[in-house]
Amino acid sequence: MIETDLVVIGAGPAGCSAAIYAVRAGIKTVIAGGAVPGGQLLQTSDIENYAGFVDPVGGFEMMDNMHKQCKRLGVEFTADEIVKLEGEKTPFILTCADGKQYKAAAVVVATGAKARWLGLPEEEKFKGHGLSACATCDGFFMRGKTVCIVGGGNTAFEDALFLAQFCPQVYLIHRRDAFRADQVTVEKVKNTPNIQLVLNSVPVEIIGTDAVEGVRVKNVKTGVTTDIACSGLFVAVGAVPQTEFLKDSLVALSDSGLVLADERTHTTVEGVFAAGDCADKYYRQAIIAAGTGAKAGIEAAAFINLHR
Ligand code: NAP
Repeated sequence: MIETDLVVIGAGPAGCSAAIYAVRAGIKTVIAGGAVPGGQLLQTSDIENYAGFVDPVGGFEMMDNMHKQCKRLGVEFTADEIVKLEGEKTPFILTCADGKQYKAAAVVVATGAKARWLGLPEEEKFKGHGLSACATCDGFFMRGKTVCIVGGGNTAFEDALFLAQFCPQVYLIHRRDAFRADQVTVEKVKNTPNIQLVLNSVPVEIIGTDAVEGVRVKNVKTGVTTDIACSGLFVAVGAVPQTEFLKDSLVALSDSGLVLADERTHTTVEGVFAAGDCADKYYRQAIIAAGTGAKAGIEAAAFINLHR
């Protein structure tokens, strides 16, 4: 059993900020970041809405800098994947996938969210064979090919712009004719000649033998189905909070799996705090994740000092 003051679960902007604030307040802090630490920003190409960067910064670069910053300040960085959180009050016991355990005075949950899929029966078969939830990761393989992207949020629109740089034809399929993506990005997409919007439409089948060869879409207003030939299908329909490991804990979750936390990041268990996309119903922005992470770090440090 490894004893520490604070375990931060997750190494995205929320987890890193929490750890930075806690360690600078004299708190012995471990980040359990999992095998691929960094969260969704690792899959983001250019970030230009994070204040303080004159030019767009790559998501990988931003996370790499945050990790280096944590380490420089004395945060212990591990690849541990936490699978269980136990305890109704401090101290808490955290169990890792390999059986290792931590005993921590406080915990910050900053586990983020993962891609949501469409739920089509063919999805499992085509994942990695033209079907992807990460254009930044897999777009490269679609160079020179026709691709479709599904979704009406910033991710879908930004991915469409990214793919349109090297794919001759990009279809953006969205179930409505209004978008969650911000207006600036929507206008950029509308002004990109090789992106075609396919609106009021949902994919009903992925077509192909061994790899994606097309997608069958149904117009939800007319009921008419159309086949679009493409080699790649990118799904960008939002995210699911990564909170399954809390299901048997006393930390309350919403129906959609979000950690219920108040504006000071306190969860339903005193000494357990939550920050970032795993607890964010509305914003899911890197800068907001970092901000709530800072709050969680401050709150956790105060809690630990009170209970020393
Ligand atoms: P999102 O904003 O939740 O958008 C998800 C989109 O997928 C919505 O348009 C939704 O349609 C659609 N959708 C959901 N389930 C669907 C289904 N089963 N079938 C078909 N369509 C479905 O998700 P996101 O685009 O990943 O963005 C997440 C958050 O990150 C947002 O707050 C976004 O602003 C932020 N973000 C920001 C940036 C940036 O600022 N640079 C970049 C990427 C993401 P409806 O609209 O009809 O619900």
